[in-house]
Amino acid sequence: MIIQLSQNIQEQEKVILLNKLSDLNIKSNIITTQFKNYIVGIPKTDFDIRSIGNLNGIEDIHRVSDAYKLVSKKWKVNNSIIDLGDNVTIGGDELSIMAGPCSIEGEKQIETTVAHLVKNNIKIMRGGVYKPRSSPYAFRGMGMDGLKLFYKHCSENGIKVITEVMQVSQVEEMADYVDIFQVGARNSQNFNLLDILGKVDKPVMIKRGMSGTIEELLASAEYVFSNGNEKILLCERGIRTYESAYRNTLDLNAIPILKEKSHLPVVVDPSHGIGLRQHVSTMALAGVMCGADAVIVETHENPEIAFSDGQQTLYHEQAEKLYQKLNQTHQLYKSF
Ligand code: PEP
Ligand code: MN
Repeated sequence: MIIQLSQNIQEQEKVILLNKLSDLNIKSNIITTQFKNYIVGIPKTDFDIRSIGNLNGIEDIHRVSDAYKLVSKKWKVNNSIIDLGDNVTIGGDELSIMAGPCSIEGEKQIETTVAHLVKNNIKIMRGGVYKPRSSPYAFRGMGMDGLKLFYKHCSENGIKVITEVMQVSQVEEMADYVDIFQVGARNSQNFNLLDILGKVDKPVMIKRGMSGTIEELLASAEYVFSNGNEKILLCERGIRTYESAYRNTLDLNAIPILKEKSHLPVVVDPSHGIGLRQHVSTMALAGVMCGADAVIVETHENPEIAFSDGQQTLYHEQAEKLYQKLNQTHQLYKSF
């Protein structure tokens, strides 16, 4: 059960409400986000919702019995829009595009990418500075030095930064240089990290775990929301299946299902989703036709020499063609 509290609820009214919930054998979780105050009630036995409905200080009550609640569409039918400032939003009428390299490699590469994005009116740049790599000998990212350069060039050009945070201890120092925190597939159920990101007033994009179910992804989002941060994006980036002809299996089914179950914007990542450059654009367009609010795609001036994920990274020229088709495809999607 979700109880939305009125903005002007009095302390005394809150006490009466909490006592009532306790009398009804309902465990109360008080949740304060940057936008609103809620009580998520977990009933231990059946109860009559009418016995609460007439108390003061309540705006609305909804029964939501799923494991995830605040991220569910059952209480919030309008889709959430994430506002990154400077008129950059995700989840509204427009399709959002995030593009850039897998890894931030140096200042020259940042400059070239920013120029490519500016030319194509792309407002969000991706790039990892802390890289989760299967081998400890692979390039693991430029860390904070890279992030500072990344943020400097982007903010000077009106571009927002999305980058992966790998652990709790990085959150604070990264926060000033990040517009969206990315939680990678390998950290999709790092509950300590999700808890901390719930206490930061920055959007968080959670990628689906390699073997994560849709429900588990939504429950991960619930960790962030219930800690106080409503600014969440859900990302389908492919799951691991028995198929070995491509890197991952982009689960396009997940997109309409996530849109149906949650009010949060959904992002599709075709780069990691298929892992093969020659098919990334097709899968990106497919993702848009499935209802994705945003696409995140890996691009590089010369993917052949990229420090990571070159095999799935688009050349800038390919990416340019894709951006146009993405916008056309999104118009087609909206006309249905
Ligand atoms: C990435 O975005 O470069 C990345 C490592 O993604 P994922 O966590 O989906 O593997
Ligand atoms: Mn990558």
